[in-house]
Amino acid sequence: MKLELKNSLSVKLLRVVLLSALVVGVVLSCAQIVYDAYKTRQAVATDAERILGMFRDPSTQAVYSLDREMGMQVIEGLFQDKAVRMASIGHPNETLLAEKTRDLKPSPTRWLTDPILGQERSFTTQLVGRSPYSEYYGDLRITLDTATYGEGFLINSMIIFISGVLRALAMGLVLYLVYHWLLTKPLSRIIEHLTSINPDRPSEHQLPLLKGHEKNELGLWVNTANQLLASIERNTHLRHEAESSLLRMAQYDFLTGLPNRQQLQQQLDKILVDAGRMQHRVAVLCFGLDDFKGINEQFSYQAGDQLLLALADRLRGHSGRLGALARLGGDQFALVQANIEQPYEAAELAQNILDDLEAPFTVDGEEIHLRATIGITLFPEDGDSTEKLLQKAEQTMTLAKTRSRNRYQFYIASVDSEIRRRRELEKDLREALVRNQFHLVYQPQINYRDHRVVGVEALIRWTHPEHGFVPPDQFIPLAEQNGTIIAIGEWVLDQACKQLREWHDQGFTDLRMAVNLSTVQLHHSELPRVVNNLLQIYRLPPRSLELEVTETGLMEDISTAAQHLLSLRRSGALIAIDDFGTGYSSLSYLKSLPLDKIKIDKSFVQDLIDDDDDDDATIVRAIIQLGKSLGMQVIAEGVETVEQEAYIISEGCNEGQGYLYSKPLPARELLAYLKQAQRTQVRVL
Ligand code: C2E
Ligand code: MG
Ligand code: MG
Repeated sequence: MKLELKNSLSVKLLRVVLLSALVVGVVLSCAQIVYDAYKTRQAVATDAERILGMFRDPSTQAVYSLDREMGMQVIEGLFQDKAVRMASIGHPNETLLAEKTRDLKPSPTRWLTDPILGQERSFTTQLVGRSPYSEYYGDLRITLDTATYGEGFLINSMIIFISGVLRALAMGLVLYLVYHWLLTKPLSRIIEHLTSINPDRPSEHQLPLLKGHEKNELGLWVNTANQLLASIERNTHLRHEAESSLLRMAQYDFLTGLPNRQQLQQQLDKILVDAGRMQHRVAVLCFGLDDFKGINEQFSYQAGDQLLLALADRLRGHSGRLGALARLGGDQFALVQANIEQPYEAAELAQNILDDLEAPFTVDGEEIHLRATIGITLFPEDGDSTEKLLQKAEQTMTLAKTRSRNRYQFYIASVDSEIRRRRELEKDLREALVRNQFHLVYQPQINYRDHRVVGVEALIRWTHPEHGFVPPDQFIPLAEQNGTIIAIGEWVLDQACKQLREWHDQGFTDLRMAVNLSTVQLHHSELPRVVNNLLQIYRLPPRSLELEVTETGLMEDISTAAQHLLSLRRSGALIAIDDFGTGYSSLSYLKSLPLDKIKIDKSFVQDLIDDDDDDDATIVRAIIQLGKSLGMQVIAEGVETVEQEAYIISEGCNEGQGYLYSKPLPARELLAYLKQAQRTQVRVL
């Protein structure tokens, strides 16, 4: 902004100073003029005295001798003085001896001076004889015209007035120069500097200390302004830092420092645009840990966090092949492979990542094995937008997990229809119970001591009006999700207990019934009461009902699980741990839980006699040993061959269940099976 001269501080000051100087000058001049007027009036009187003094003697002489001629001479003498307008000599009571008058002096300034000095002034002196006679003879009288004095007075006044005004003007000018030099100039320089300051880096160019002004108000001002600029810069810097860390927080995952979903979407958007232009493929891999929840529960959330950090580092190891890597949340990550030619490249990457997990992670001195499932979508085949690709990759991963874990799965269009089918099933599930679409089948359990059928496991079946038989592996998780599992579970317990009562009444009084419990049921506070009621209603003896809980279900919340198991046990039920070996139970937890039986998962039993792999044999042997050392019964599920049976018997397994003895059978068929077994007292093949 340019400073206009008329707005400058110096000019403003000049105006004020000039005005006041003028006022003061005029007032002082006026005072002086008044004084001058007084002085001039006095001068008139003094002159008159002087003149009268000079002519007193001759006038006395003339009046004494009554000499008119001499009197006139004296008068003429008086009239030599220009100011004298009238002069007379004579006794006041007689005719004047001599007298003369002339006109007032015409002067253009009379109108001004007459009111001050008077038009004319008269003076008289007495004419007295010499002593010792000292006789009074008459008066000498003169009248003085003030015009001459007035002119002098006016000239003087003019000079006084003009010089007063000129003095004021000169002072104003000097002051203006001083102000300009002391204020306007340095201030203009500061303003010039201020305008060149960069608002982003205000203290980059400090305001200069002006020479000669270091210690005065200007110097102080410059120093304070510089300090202010410096603190503005500090604040701006802090604000910038806060803003960028907010931005980071909004775009990056707090724990791993990887981009978050929002950032990934932006990155993927760009990658897709480029790939679309270059006609390249892009693979989106959605990576999810298998059972991370269990690990979190078993160790601690801190350990879980450390594990995620270490995992993020391993994933970063592949970043050379990645266009983007992000954490989607929880235990899910997304990897984007930009510009690939063929889908197998994505498969290779997925396999590499899974292989990479083979090496255990060490957290708190413990070795932890992680497994993961990966869902893969391809651009442009599976979707042309970031949202579709990510959503389908996540769905693919979730679905892949429900089938089997530790693998990768490409998106296939049928996945969509499967998801739709699952939604439909979930809806139908709510109706299934009232519409009587469920029934139970029973699978015998054999005791190896005498090869007798000692129990049966109740397994639920759903006959869907349209889709026919729906396996429990598919609908139980859905029922757990929408909560219907509570009602379904109670129905199963009721049916199984009722059936057991029937069989007991038919003579199989030692028969035991195993019923599967979902984790959701286990944590439902009503369960012990329900079980207790059923045992009483159907008058079932203690230890005739066995409840199977899964390992992962137990580990989710050990302490509540332990409480619930205890109250279940108090009502007389036995507790078995199902699918043992698939979770992450540690020995210490196992010991703290009130368990009666361990059920070895069928996956270990099935691979037992595989020559290439004796890992499973080792695991099975270890589980049997563990059960024995904890004083628990051990049962193997999924026994299909005599070789498997021989191995587990030789290791000391107590019981077995599997297709080798029977598939799960409807109640009526199972009764026939029981009767047949009773008759032969031997194994039924
Ligand atoms: P699970 O409790 O481990 O049941 C054993 C599963 O293995 C059953 O499958 C059974 O039919 C199958 N099986 C038995 N012997 C063999 C064999 O020799 N070879 C092979 N390959 N499989 C065999 P199913 O009936 O399909 O049940 C699957 C799972 O669904 C069960 O696993 C259980 O976790 C759950 N489930 C079944 N019924 C219920 C129920 O009433 N309530 C709850 N909460 N879960 C249930
Ligand atoms: Mg079971
Ligand atoms: Mg099982």
